[in-house]
Amino acid sequence: MFAEVSLPISSFQTFTYAVPENLRKDAIVSARVDVPFGNRKVSGIIVSLIHKSSFDGQLKSIIKIDPSTPILSKELWKLVKWISHYYVAPIGLAYNSVLPFSLLKDYSPRKSWFAKFNESANLSTLENLQKSSPKQFLVYNIIKKASPNCMRISTLKDITSNPISVCKALENKGFINLFKKSEEHVRDNIAFSPVKKKIIYNKEQIEVIDNIKSSLKLKKFSSNLLHGVTGSGKTEIFIESIKTAIEMGKSSIVLIPEISLTPQIAGRFKDVFGEGISLWHSQLTKAQRAKTWDSINTGESKIVIGARSAIFSPIKNLGLIIVDEEHDASYKQESPSPRYHARDVAIMRGKIESCLVLLSSATPSLETFYNYKVKKHNYLSLPKRYGFAVYPKVKVVDLIDESRETGKFNIIISGTLQQKIEERLNNNEQVLLIQNRRGYSPTVKCSDCGNIVMCAGCKTPLTFHKYDNNFKCHICGFIGNNEMDNCKECFSQNFLYLGTGTQKVENILKQTFPSARIARVDYDSTKKNDSLVKVLQSFLNGEIDILLGTQMISKGLDFPGITLVGIINADLGLHIPDFRATERTFQLIYQAAGRAGRGEKAGEVIIQTYDKKNTVIKAASKLDLEKYYENMLNDRIGLNYPPFSWVTKIEFIGKNSKSVFSLSNKIRSNFLGGYKGLEVLGPAPCFKEKVNNQYRFQIILKSLKKHDTNSNKLHSFISQNFIENRASLSGSNKIHIHIDPISMI
Ligand code: ADP
Ligand code: ZN
Ligand code: ZN
Repeated sequence: MFAEVSLPISSFQTFTYAVPENLRKDAIVSARVDVPFGNRKVSGIIVSLIHKSSFDGQLKSIIKIDPSTPILSKELWKLVKWISHYYVAPIGLAYNSVLPFSLLKDYSPRKSWFAKFNESANLSTLENLQKSSPKQFLVYNIIKKASPNCMRISTLKDITSNPISVCKALENKGFINLFKKSEEHVRDNIAFSPVKKKIIYNKEQIEVIDNIKSSLKLKKFSSNLLHGVTGSGKTEIFIESIKTAIEMGKSSIVLIPEISLTPQIAGRFKDVFGEGISLWHSQLTKAQRAKTWDSINTGESKIVIGARSAIFSPIKNLGLIIVDEEHDASYKQESPSPRYHARDVAIMRGKIESCLVLLSSATPSLETFYNYKVKKHNYLSLPKRYGFAVYPKVKVVDLIDESRETGKFNIIISGTLQQKIEERLNNNEQVLLIQNRRGYSPTVKCSDCGNIVMCAGCKTPLTFHKYDNNFKCHICGFIGNNEMDNCKECFSQNFLYLGTGTQKVENILKQTFPSARIARVDYDSTKKNDSLVKVLQSFLNGEIDILLGTQMISKGLDFPGITLVGIINADLGLHIPDFRATERTFQLIYQAAGRAGRGEKAGEVIIQTYDKKNTVIKAASKLDLEKYYENMLNDRIGLNYPPFSWVTKIEFIGKNSKSVFSLSNKIRSNFLGGYKGLEVLGPAPCFKEKVNNQYRFQIILKSLKKHDTNSNKLHSFISQNFIENRASLSGSNKIHIHIDPISMI
């Protein structure tokens, strides 16, 4: 018997191994095996079993099949195969996303030795110890000093080269106690403590709930768009749906963009379902991850809440998949392969497991909106806010006019916004401000020669970070500490700090409103103060007046105290060469506006722009979604972009620009029999043409939906052109295939 084994490497090839006699009973498709690969031992999975091999030579044998490792359900195995096929990813990599090999290896936390002072020690011999063994006496004193805390023995290495034997001796004499303990830090600070609520459903909510309940009872696949305006109570709909699923003996998966950004939802779920839920997120330690996986796999846990990879939870008896904020870009895995979209995987899993899929958003992605229009998704709607909360009033502030009137340039906080903030501060109300760019100044220019401070590896301006007093590349992560000493070209020390990031806004706010309590939330701030949840909690408690941040805080949060939302510069992001730039800008403004006026007091939104005639700004300020979406759909038809075509982006990456370019050209000209309706754009340098000293080119493939009602044709084209001959072609260059890319740059 032979097994085709796929390894978690970026090769599409599978490898044939002989199955030794004694392992045959455990050899099944999807089982995990250890095999020799080169001179290493590698873990892989059995993709298929065969009785004859066409290979003439001596085949290597499987070393081990671990019958105790969990086996994927046949549904998940089906999903793995679909992901591998659809996203053109080696099956070993697809499998690794669903059942990470690391999960199986680091199953239990590492334990270390600890020592604790023995309170009831007989101290009469202490004097003796000091004389006979001064080292032990020293160590004894340190441990005693730490009491009542215990002490990790390895931290005594500075004092003695063999702390464990010194401690053992002390234990024998009864001075201390030794024990082994795991060093897991429980990082469970990503949810609010349980949030209690008295729930009374309104008419619209009851209608939606009834609808979901009857679909659930059919135990069939259905995909549904829950389109509820901000503040309409989508969370409560999720809760009620999950309750119904549980009554039917079914389990649920809830995807949310990032748990730590939406601690309220997790807090609400905790209140209702208590220990019954598993949180699946990036901050779990390896052991917690393994434990959580296990409790899901054994069926102990019937609700999983998590970010995109939670869609692979080995949950049994699945009845319901909820994708909250389904338009969110974080659902797309850019790297590593498989480059999947969790929303689309959710739909596929729903089909495989015959369950209900609920996509929820106040600002659906255009694809999902379109799918509802063509009746692929059922449409469930919550058209108004819950309770007495009304929709906010929106005002657009034209920064060009403002400059003209005031004679000031580079206005960051307009007179109107300043006045509105003052009013709120006087009334003890809260303000949320969005500036979707982090750092202090995104471009720093020498004022003598005009030279711009750049990242050498990425051909991009470095962002100045005032608080760390350094320059950071937001593309490759490079940090420069002495870029500022003097200009690299003319040695001048005069710099202009152009553009505006959150840190600059924070600075200005502190100067303008010296007595206000101000907090900033962005990627940099959350890395430092480990608990974003703490900031959000104190904002909720009313201990912060102004919360400033990037898009991180624009969605999902429910703070009834906010009566003013200000968008400092709504134009950021509008001019990126990507057909989704307008959609994203609209969603950002609409979602941010949706944070205002969720409580008893009405809310107001100020949108600052240099481009007030822009159609996105206009539509977003009217909060007029349907009409704007129809317009966007028309634009997409005209340009043949999704949802009217299937798109694939192929990236070519390598150290030598010429070789990367010639590879992309060669592939372009080698394309086997292109089919009718396939448009090929490029190769062209990527928008970020150099990242981390690697050059990047891309080819875009667009297939007309008019010709293809599904993407199969495009897929087989890609397979033919890339899978079979890519290793031989690419050499040291890399080829990344992005099916349905959400970013074209
Ligand atoms: P969305 O996610 O749609 O923006 P939320 O689920 O955050 O809205 O709901 C908005 C607010 O209204 C929340 O404070 C929520 O607790 C409250 N709410 C919604 N539905 C109900 C209900 N049926 N009973 C009581 N409060 C509700
Ligand atoms: Zn200069
Ligand atoms: Zn860089």
